[in-house]
Amino acid sequence: MDDYTDLNQRMRGKVKTRNKASGGGKPLLGLRYGARWTPSTKWSWVHLWPEKHTGFNGADTPYFEYMEHFSKTRNNQGSVCSREWVEDDRGVRKSFGNCVGCYELDIAEGDGEKGDRAVSDISLRPLAAFTGVHLADYHLVEVTDRETGRVVTYKKGNKWHKQGDPIMRRVPCIGRGCEHCQARAEKVFGKYIHWSLGTGHFGALSNFVGDLAHTCAKCGDNLVEMIYMCPNCSHKILDLTPSAGNTMTDDAIYDMVSQPCKCRNCGKSMLPRPIYECEGCKNPQPLGLFDVSFQVRKTSDEFPKLDFGTVRQEPIPEDLMEMFPKGNILHRVFKGDPIRKQMKVFNLGKNPFGSEEAVDYRRNDDAEEPEGADEEELLF
Ligand SMILES: [Zn+2]
Ligand SMILES: [Zn+2]
Ligand SMILES: [Zn+2]
Ligand SMILES: [Zn+2]
Repeated sequence: MDDYTDLNQRMRGKVKTRNKASGGGKPLLGLRYGARWTPSTKWSWVHLWPEKHTGFNGADTPYFEYMEHFSKTRNNQGSVCSREWVEDDRGVRKSFGNCVGCYELDIAEGDGEKGDRAVSDISLRPLAAFTGVHLADYHLVEVTDRETGRVVTYKKGNKWHKQGDPIMRRVPCIGRGCEHCQARAEKVFGKYIHWSLGTGHFGALSNFVGDLAHTCAKCGDNLVEMIYMCPNCSHKILDLTPSAGNTMTDDAIYDMVSQPCKCRNCGKSMLPRPIYECEGCKNPQPLGLFDVSFQVRKTSDEFPKLDFGTVRQEPIPEDLMEMFPKGNILHRVFKGDPIRKQMKVFNLGKNPFGSEEAVDYRRNDDAEEPEGADEEELLF
C-alpha cells in the first residue's frame, strides 16, 4: 500500500479561496457519467482509494484535479476545460492550450486578468475527483439502446465477459417497493464510483481527513501533534512537547500550521508536517482517508454542505475490488473535451481556433493505463 499519510498535509494546504462559480445540472452521456456519484441527503457508505496524479501545483495527489465549465443559459451542460492549468503563489492560472469555454469567458472578461466574471454566462470551477466504491445494494440491469430498445452487447471479450454478452448497468436498489426487486433482477453489492468535489466540499473532506488523523491506525487510541517540522529539511518549526514550554493557544497553532510557512533553515515555504505521539502505542500512524469506509451525506440546503458520519477502519472486500478497474483512470475520465464537443455544449457554430483538435488536458505520463478500462467497461 502506498504511503498516503501525507494526504492530510496536502489537503490542508488546499483549503483556500478559489474562483467561485455555479455548476451541476443535466448530465451528459458517455463514460464520464456512467460512474458519477454524489452523496444524497441520506447517509451513504463509501470507501475511496488513491490514484496517482499530479496536481495543478505539481505535487503528487491521490485525486485528480480538473477545471469544469458550465452554462445554464446555453444548453444547461458542462464541459471539462481543455487548457493546461498551473497553481502557484498567484493561485490557479491557465497556462496553454485551447478551450471554447475559456475563449468565451475571455471575451466576456475583455481578455483582462481580472474581468467581470458575472458578464459571462459560462462558469469555471476547479474540481477534485476521487475514485471509490459506493457500499450499497444495486441491481444488474441490461443496458438497452435508446433508439432501437435492443440490449447492448460487448464488442470485445476479456477475462470478465465474452464478446456478445449483454452490457449490464448497476442501478440502485431502493429497498421497499423497488421495481428491480419485483422484476427479480440480480442483486449485487457495491458500485464503482468517481466523486468530484468542488472547493467547499473538498474543504469539508479535508477537515474530515484532519479529524481522522487524530486516531491511531495501529491501536485506535488518540494521536496528538507534538512537533511540526519542515517537510523539506526536517528542521523543527514548532515544538509542542511539554519540555519546550510553548504557550501558544490551539487556535494560534492551527493558524500557523494550516498554511505554508517559511523554514528558517532551508528557506522553502511549505506546510509544516506534524509528528504525532500516540497515547496507546509507541509506533503511531495517523488514520488515513483510504484506510476507512465512512458515511457521508449532503445537507438539504440551497448550498448543500457535506456531513460525515460513522467511520469504520476496514479494507474493501477483495471480491468487490476484483470487479473494478485497477490503476489510474480519472485522468482519462476527466480529460479535456474535444473542441467539437465544446462547440456543441456552448452553442458555437464556428470553431474559434480554426482546427478541431483540443490539446489533451494535462497528459499524465506517469499514470499507467488501467486494466480493462474500455469505455464500455466503465458503464457499470
Ligand atoms: Zn477552459
Ligand atoms: Zn431492489
Ligand atoms: Zn526546511
Ligand atoms: Zn497507537
